[in-house]
Amino acid sequence: MRLVLVGPPGAGKGTQAQFLAAHYSIPHIATGDIFRANLKAGTALGLKAKAFMDSGELVPDAVTNEMVKERLLGADLEKGFLLDGFPRNVLQAQVLRANLAQKNSPLTAVLELSIDNAQIISRLSSRRTCKECGLPTSAQEKCPACGADLYQREDDRIEVITRRLEVYEEQTSPIIAFYRSQGLLITVSALGSVEEITQRAISALGADS
Ligand code: AMP
Repeated sequence: MRLVLVGPPGAGKGTQAQFLAAHYSIPHIATGDIFRANLKAGTALGLKAKAFMDSGELVPDAVTNEMVKERLLGADLEKGFLLDGFPRNVLQAQVLRANLAQKNSPLTAVLELSIDNAQIISRLSSRRTCKECGLPTSAQEKCPACGADLYQREDDRIEVITRRLEVYEEQTSPIIAFYRSQGLLITVSALGSVEEITQRAISALGADS
């Protein structure tokens, strides 16, 4: 299963990606997580990405495409992968398509999580993230998974959320039509409990292939 998960910030992509990746036994590749890990480790890549991330803008395509290309060479991808947060614009989608075509391993499907803006703002402005394991949570004090302290991502502040939503509308949402025209798009509602949404997604995607 070679899957792309797409949806606005706050649609629950990260949470669903973890469950879907476990269900299909494929690695979860989240470009935002890779950037944040680099930032935490103080690498050159992290430094390049920081200002863009903090203001809700996209990291330049050349940096992001190269990082994903390298990750897709990983030896752990025989059963496929789940890309979360990539592609974020049509150019990235085209580069991904060309890259996968070279390996004769095109995408199986693109899963869109759909949700309206009012829901997103309420979810993201109360979202906290675990300092240790990176879990996003609606808890406000300690991580429900590992008990570590939580923090508010710089880009989950209301001003930045608004900008991230604009960036999604302007730059990312055109990939929906791009994938629809290739017959790859599957849309499910991102409303309901985490389990309900996962079940909805699995029924829509079907068995591994
Ligand atoms: P996320 O965790 O997916 O919300 O990503 C957090 C931030 O990382 C985004 O707001 C961007 O600044 C950056 N980022 C993540 N994925 C990409 C991508 N595919 N292209 C450009 N920037 C990205």
